Amino acid sequence: MPEHSFDRSYELHERASAVIAGGVSTAFRAFERPVPLSLSSATGARLIDVDGNEIVDFVCGMGPIILGHGHERVVAAVTRAAAQLQQPSAQHEAEIELAELLRSVLPSCERLRFGLSGSEAVHAALRLSRAATGRSLVVKFAGHYHGWLDPIFAATSHLPPARPETAGQQPSALQDLVAIEWNDTAGLEQLFAERGGEIAALIMEPYPCNGGVIPGAPGFVERCRELCDQSGSLLVFDEVITGFRVGLDGAQGMLGVRPDLTVVAKAMGNGFPISAFGGRADVMDEIATNRVMHAGTYNGGGISIAAALATTTELQEEPQIYERMRALGTRLREGLEAAGARHGHRIVTQGPGPVFFAWFIDEGGVATFRDHLAADHARYGRFAALMLAEGVRLIPAGRWYLSAAHDDTDIDEALAAADRALARLER
Ligand code: PMP
Repeated sequence: MPEHSFDRSYELHERASAVIAGGVSTAFRAFERPVPLSLSSATGARLIDVDGNEIVDFVCGMGPIILGHGHERVVAAVTRAAAQLQQPSAQHEAEIELAELLRSVLPSCERLRFGLSGSEAVHAALRLSRAATGRSLVVKFAGHYHGWLDPIFAATSHLPPARPETAGQQPSALQDLVAIEWNDTAGLEQLFAERGGEIAALIMEPYPCNGGVIPGAPGFVERCRELCDQSGSLLVFDEVITGFRVGLDGAQGMLGVRPDLTVVAKAMGNGFPISAFGGRADVMDEIATNRVMHAGTYNGGGISIAAALATTTELQEEPQIYERMRALGTRLREGLEAAGARHGHRIVTQGPGPVFFAWFIDEGGVATFRDHLAADHARYGRFAALMLAEGVRLIPAGRWYLSAAHDDTDIDEALAAADRALARLER
């Protein structure tokens, strides 16, 4: 198979860089090699780039694409909404329907509110936690990403303590944030013993996906729940990735642990911008009564609500989608590990299938964020670039996403591409 070339993407990146800072609109897109890709269309599990290359997609819009690109039902719903009620800036029935559907699959969300991005919904959940408890301190886990806003953007790419991740971040915004290591039960118990009475919220990705897909050790998330109960702190699940991706009831359903507050986004809208946060009615009352301010011009807009209602209804009506993604994901994971072994690269994979992570790591597994940091990320970046040349698009950091549109042919092609890429990959 001839290698793809990206001449037109290079040209457009050069043109973009003269007018768009860095040539991209989000930092994460800058890391793609050999060049940030320019696309002309996307259907199902396939992308067509501006050079005319057909590419199998495992980026899935960075997680939101769960039904496949250009899904007919979602596009039809959005088209109708665009013509009929695009920006109501008023209540409409579809918004209530969506809220009712969300509550039926996520019973911990007794009341909820809609927003547009994961970052702002996390921000609202933390403000709410502080108001509801009358406390300031927020505890997060290293490696977990909760958006790019000042008060929480710390210890996502590095171990504790929490410190600014970017130039320009207000250091004082992190005054009331403590970061600790995931799966460190003793450390967490000590923190709660010493400062439990100050802790407004413990926030986590309950099934972490950002700093590696690293499940909680047996009993760890349950222990977090107990510690929060004992100290009167709120347990906040950031399910921006896992919501509607690992199952209709998200990671909380998978783990059987009920949080006080939940944030969902990405997959609920199949790529249209929407998020929601919700939880205990008594906590959400702080917003219902307007003691806590939450606002947004586009919240509950016609298009985002229509997209999310169509997406979540489809997922609810077709639950076999999850089984299929799990089966295909398992085949893909096993095939990647085997391909690695054939070419002298030890690949370790972890994750339920609809999302998983792959690392180059010479020995052992990945049970902690330290293990994740110790993996050979530079080699993975080179692998992702070789895969793109072979017609398969990956997130250079190591996370893979599947959608309902992927089939066995896509997996076959990806594994054949991996075989060729790994044969050429230098250690
Ligand atoms: N939380 C998690 C777990 C995420 O993965 C992300 C985005 N990758 C966010 C929050 C932030 O969401 P957004 O990019 O929509 O602001």
